[in-house]
Amino acid sequence: MTRKFTPAGTGGLVLEEKLLWEKGRKGRSAMSLVKSEVPVTALPEEICGNGPDWPDLSEQEVARHYTRLSTWNFGVDTGMYPLGSCTMKYNPKINEAMAALPGFAKAHPLLPAEACQGSMRLIYELERFLAEIVGLKAASLQPAAGAHGELCGMLMIAAWHRNNEKSGAPRKTKVLIPDTAHGTNPATATMSGFTEVKVPLGPKGYIELAQIERLMQDDVAGLMVTNPNTLGLFEQELADIIAMVHERGGLVYADGANLNAVMGYVDLGRMGVDVVHYNLHKTMSTPHGGGGPGAGPVAVSATLEPFLPGPRVIKNGDRYEWQTDLPLSIGRLHSFHGQFGVAVKAYSYILSMGQDLKKASALAVLNANYIKEKLKGAFDLPFDQPCMHECVFTDAKQRANKVSTLDIAKRLIDLGYHPPTVYFPLVVNSAIMVEPTETESKEDLDAFIAAMLEVAREAEETPETLHAAPTLTKVRRMDETTAARKPVLTGDMKVEGKQ
Ligand SMILES: *Cc1c(COP(=O)(O)O)cnc(C)c1O
Repeated sequence: MTRKFTPAGTGGLVLEEKLLWEKGRKGRSAMSLVKSEVPVTALPEEICGNGPDWPDLSEQEVARHYTRLSTWNFGVDTGMYPLGSCTMKYNPKINEAMAALPGFAKAHPLLPAEACQGSMRLIYELERFLAEIVGLKAASLQPAAGAHGELCGMLMIAAWHRNNEKSGAPRKTKVLIPDTAHGTNPATATMSGFTEVKVPLGPKGYIELAQIERLMQDDVAGLMVTNPNTLGLFEQELADIIAMVHERGGLVYADGANLNAVMGYVDLGRMGVDVVHYNLHKTMSTPHGGGGPGAGPVAVSATLEPFLPGPRVIKNGDRYEWQTDLPLSIGRLHSFHGQFGVAVKAYSYILSMGQDLKKASALAVLNANYIKEKLKGAFDLPFDQPCMHECVFTDAKQRANKVSTLDIAKRLIDLGYHPPTVYFPLVVNSAIMVEPTETESKEDLDAFIAAMLEVAREAEETPETLHAAPTLTKVRRMDETTAARKPVLTGDMKVEGKQ
């Protein structure tokens, strides 16, 4: 590929960057080793291959290369990232600093209890904080992600039923899952040995008691429900639904990925939820996206407490100890103690926020409703009612001009925004799902609204602008079908001589 001339200086965002192999000079190095005091001995030839073709670079060349590449990314530290159902909110840097404290970051996971009382106290207290925020009895920090927390919860529900079957309760083989569920829910139910039974949504976007009453048969282990649901709506009949599930011998799993909307407001314990998972990488100050690590702790009611993973931290006087004698526990789900660094950030976040956790949720909901009201004239809003932390539009108004959700998303990139979630949830045709989060100021929200209105105007006046978007990025619109069906996963770009 021939490259256009790039000036040697760095005038702002540099979108041309040579490959590492095209930089440097033979013999250049980023380190200097102490001169050897012993004679050099050649290795036997049979154990020497050609070796990898590493580029020869100075430390500065490497630092600049990767720092430049990092400016090609869009992150929540660069701008607004309104990805619905994912809570891409800004994470205060103080919590990173706390996780990096050597006493936490360098504690070896095999330290005996007497040498890591502080870390054990953090585990003990964070479990209590998390349980308290949703009104449940106990928690475990072991699961490493949301889906892992779901697995933990469903394994506990399965274990509870198996325990009851010993005393004659009917065999449970199915789980009810609403249409709006995240794809991980049916996957988890299946992995836990259950068959999924779909619960259709009512006309207003909620699940309805009548459906649960119809579906909640003797062989159903319970319900997996996301609240607020993935349309950003608070399930209106949930308390009655949960009572119905319990009455028919089932348990209720709450997918808590959308906790950011309801921290301190919803008492899941009083609503009757038996187990919930948290996404610490959505709600509790761990950066989200880019491959982790995250964490998906669970909290449970008294019914499921004996089934929690072990070992657990208990407090004996003022000492913290490991409890390993847990006869009903589903066992260990993670090496050592889960994603401990993520737990430190959540602990620091909760302590630094205090009562303001409630305010964060209130602002997240206010911001989503503000965007919904300001944009509903320009974009189709299939469920026009107060929303929680996110709102769902579609491209129905733009379709007449042959402008799709994908075009709208791509054009937003040109206007400086990460696109919202698109084509999810599936219950809405061509969804555009916006979650602004609490950390965006009114000016930021107004700027995003202005960009969306600009896109709506372009869809009317110059739809070709949207069809061509993005035009201001390093890489233009990709062939997403081919990328998904025939991914090129090799890093061997040098051989091809391609960028
Ligand atoms: C993100 C999310 C999950 C899965 O969480 P991971 O940490 O990605 O495994 C599950 N349910 C809902 C509603 C989510 O938004």
